[in-house]
Amino acid sequence: MVDKMSVFECSKCGDCCRGMIYLTATADDLLNWKDRPDILKFVKDGNFWVDSLTGKRLESCPWFENNLCKIHEIKPHFCANFPGHELQIKKICGGGI
Ligand code: SF4
Ligand code: SF4
Repeated sequence: MVDKMSVFECSKCGDCCRGMIYLTATADDLLNWKDRPDILKFVKDGNFWVDSLTGKRLESCPWFENNLCKIHEIKPHFCANFPGHELQIKKICGGGI
């Protein structure tokens, strides 16, 4: 049986970024963002991404623009490690394998 994780190639479709909202930031994420109030303003109770005015979860990631991540160098751990398992590839990546 082929290990789908080992043959997976990201097609850069951006579908994961369209759905990757309201997740829990890791301790390392929060450390990485300690001098980034522009990022932290979208974090509430350890969860990203949240509207700083209403406190409600955003409907889309504020850093996704033109199919690219505007905080690529310090994007959340979850994003950096996506997809983490075959189920995510199957459910979100579509034709990625
Ligand atoms: S932070 Fe970057 S990688 Fe994560 S969902 Fe937003 S645009 Fe995508
Ligand atoms: S949904 Fe999957 S294939 Fe598309 S950009 Fe995200 S990781 Fe890559």
